[in-house]
Amino acid sequence: MNDFSENLSAHLSCSQLSYRYSKKSDWALDPFSHEFQKGITILKGFSGCGKSTLLRLLAGYLKPTEGSVQTHRGAPWRNSKYYRKDLGFVFQQLNLLPLTTVKRNLELANSLAGVSSAELKRNTTLWLSKLGLDAYKSRAPSTLSGGQQQRASIARCLIKNPRIALLDEPTSGLDDLNTSIISKTLSEFVQNGSIVLIASHDPRLDPIAHEIIDFNNRLPLERHLESLV
Ligand code: ADP
Ligand code: MG
Repeated sequence: MNDFSENLSAHLSCSQLSYRYSKKSDWALDPFSHEFQKGITILKGFSGCGKSTLLRLLAGYLKPTEGSVQTHRGAPWRNSKYYRKDLGFVFQQLNLLPLTTVKRNLELANSLAGVSSAELKRNTTLWLSKLGLDAYKSRAPSTLSGGQQQRASIARCLIKNPRIALLDEPTSGLDDLNTSIISKTLSEFVQNGSIVLIASHDPRLDPIAHEIIDFNNRLPLERHLESLV
C-alpha cells in the first residue's frame, strides 16, 4: 500500500465553516464546526441541507466563504498533494471516465498517487476482485448497471488507500446485496486508520457508522416548506 510511510496521521476538521454559491444566494451551509474521528461518520439530513456542499468544502473543491477546513496536510483548497495522495471522493452523480474501461478508470486513479507499475497492477486486480468487478473490467461504465457503476466508483475511490474518503450518497437506489457489499468494503477499509465520511440518508448504512451527525437537528434552511405539508 502506498505512502503511509510519510507517517502523517489522518486529520480532518472544520471550524465555523459556511458557504454560499453566490453573494445573492442563501447560505448553502450554516456555520459548522467539527473534528471528524478516524472511522466512519455518516452525515444525515433533509435534501438541500448542505451535505454535498460540506463534502465539497472538505475535499477542497470549493473554497469556504467563511471559516476553515484543516487536514493533516493543512487546508485542502488547491492543495495538490492532498488531492493526489490523501483524498478519495465518490460523487453523487458518478463520474467514471466514460470513454475508457472500468479497469483503466481504476488504474488512472491509482497512478495519481504515484505508485510503481507492479503495485498499480496488484492494486487494480485486488480492487476489481474485492468489489466483484472482474467480469466487467473491460467494459465501458455506461454499459454497466447502477450497482456495478457504484461499486466501480467506490473501488476507484479506495484504490489509492486515501487517508480521507468522502462519499456522497454511495448507496442511493441500490439493492440490499450491493449495499451490503459496499458496507462491508467500507468497514474493512477504515480499519487502516482512515477517516471516512458518508453523506446519506440510507438507514441500511447506520450499523457501520462510528458517529452519526444529523443535520435535521439543526435549523432547517427551507422553513417555508414546513407550511406546505
Ligand atoms: P444536500 O446534499 O444536503 O441535498 P446541497 O449541498 O446539494 O444539499 O445543497 C445545499 C443548498 O445549496 C441547496 O439550497 C441547493 O439548492 C444549493 N446548491 C447546491 N449546489 C449549488 C450550485 N452548484 N449552485 C447554486 N446553489 C447550489
Ligand atoms: Mg447531496
